[in-house]
Amino acid sequence: MSRSPRLFVISGPSGAGKGTLVSRVREGRPDLGLTVSATTRKPRPGEVPDVSYHFLSEDEFSRLVEEGAFLEWDGHFERRYGTLWSEVNACLDEGRSVILEIDVNGGFNVKSAMPDAVLIFIAPPSLAILEERLRKRGSETDEQIAKRLSRVSMEMESSSRYDEVIVNDDLESAVDELAALIDRYETDERTHAHVRD
Ligand code: 5GP
Repeated sequence: MSRSPRLFVISGPSGAGKGTLVSRVREGRPDLGLTVSATTRKPRPGEVPDVSYHFLSEDEFSRLVEEGAFLEWDGHFERRYGTLWSEVNACLDEGRSVILEIDVNGGFNVKSAMPDAVLIFIAPPSLAILEERLRKRGSETDEQIAKRLSRVSMEMESSSRYDEVIVNDDLESAVDELAALIDRYETDERTHAHVRD
């Protein structure tokens, strides 16, 4: 069966397990590209520049916005985050699907720019479990955790406008579900991605 590269947006509340799910799926599908977002926030312990994010100054980020270098960008927690066209096109031009791990507003902006994009929402099993995961991560203050949790209900409401929702209750099942979804969209004859000539 023929495969067409697709652009997948993966969103969901911080702590819902997006990162783990995506890296597990990519172990079985190393051809799947993952864009490295640009951000003006500072690196967290363990984060690697140009692997976790392209960490930019406010001025550098503004310059790229002016140059039209972003497919989408958005502000959160007084910081800016965005997806560079160069990252997306590097994969699609090679015939590889690409995954963007971004927030829901970013997802909607991508869908407007690229209607063939597939929006996948990763939901936590419950708010209590989400809070526990965030606290265990230990990288944020109580105040920052409270801010993130206050965004969750907005994000959960937005999930109804996503193409697909995966509840990350059992990790192994969620990994299988995500891999199967990606496969289904890539082989779906009816909805080919727009690949540039
Ligand atoms: P964090 O600071 O925890 O890494 O990310 C904070 C939020 O920024 C998350 O909701 C994450 O999905 C979002 N984010 C990360 N990269 C991008 C991006 O390129 N564009 C947009 N719009 N949001 C992003």
